[in-house]
Amino acid sequence: MSFLQRIANGLGTLLGVLVEATVTVIQGIKQGFEDYQRRTGLSSSDVRTQAQRDRERLRVVNEEIIYLRNRHRSSGGLSERERRRWHDLKEERDALNQELGRAKEVQAAEKIIDNESVIEKVEIDLNTTHVLQYNAFADSLNKRCRVCGRPMKLQWRRDLAIAGPRDFFWGCTGWYLPGTNDGHACKFQEKLARNDFGLMTDISEPEFELSAEEFGIIVDDPGTSSIIAERVSDLQSDLKKKKHGVELVTCPVHGENMVLRNKSGASGLLDSYFLACPHWRPHDDNSCPFMEKLKSGAQLAALLKSQTGRGVL
Ligand SMILES: [Zn+2]
Ligand SMILES: [Zn+2]
Repeated sequence: MSFLQRIANGLGTLLGVLVEATVTVIQGIKQGFEDYQRRTGLSSSDVRTQAQRDRERLRVVNEEIIYLRNRHRSSGGLSERERRRWHDLKEERDALNQELGRAKEVQAAEKIIDNESVIEKVEIDLNTTHVLQYNAFADSLNKRCRVCGRPMKLQWRRDLAIAGPRDFFWGCTGWYLPGTNDGHACKFQEKLARNDFGLMTDISEPEFELSAEEFGIIVDDPGTSSIIAERVSDLQSDLKKKKHGVELVTCPVHGENMVLRNKSGASGLLDSYFLACPHWRPHDDNSCPFMEKLKSGAQLAALLKSQTGRGVL
């Protein structure tokens, strides 16, 4: 399915590339992208137009699935015809999510090729963990759980003020879904492999000129932190007005862009914002459980950079 055949994200970053040379990797991406375009005959704008249509269709499909599920709950069952419909809709959703995954790969490949001159390898150590957190913000493409096949996300121990390289891991998104493994659909986690401690990314972001510690100090500064809060809150009202979700981050079940939300009674900037599936409802156990706290300055920087073109510095 994948033509990139690498772990990447919509920020134009390649992950898991510690032991390879940047030139070789980017050459491989170009080759893969050209082959893909030749094979499919699709230009980048065709892919974008199709993705737009797929996203609209996905919204309709999700609404109908949720309608049927609620009917199932309230009336204690569905007719044979409704059950078949439910099944078909879920298959259609899987197919749409796969198509949209390919569109995300095209977007990532284009970004990598466009930014070629500023892409360099970053080795993840104590000084650069914020680069990994920055990239944990966007969906990782082509990283699937070995147990259940769901997408995996870069995670780290959220209780730490500054995470060290060994505090990161890949977590299956099935963890958030109810299921039979201690209440989770899947609990699979994977330590980062040696190769995962290197990524290739646009190093021209000012955030990356600082060490993780220096970056943390700047974000903590009350002056900086109130400016960032203001910008994120402006972005939030702007997205709300346009009824837009956040680009690059999607719900692994519904495939729709996550919505930027703020927590009431937050204790500071890094406690204030989170992303939630558009089908998430507060205090409703039957709604989609996917939400992600934005608990680091690096995630907020990635959010602002990808939505407004400028990070936090
Ligand atoms: Zn899994
Ligand atoms: Zn969802």
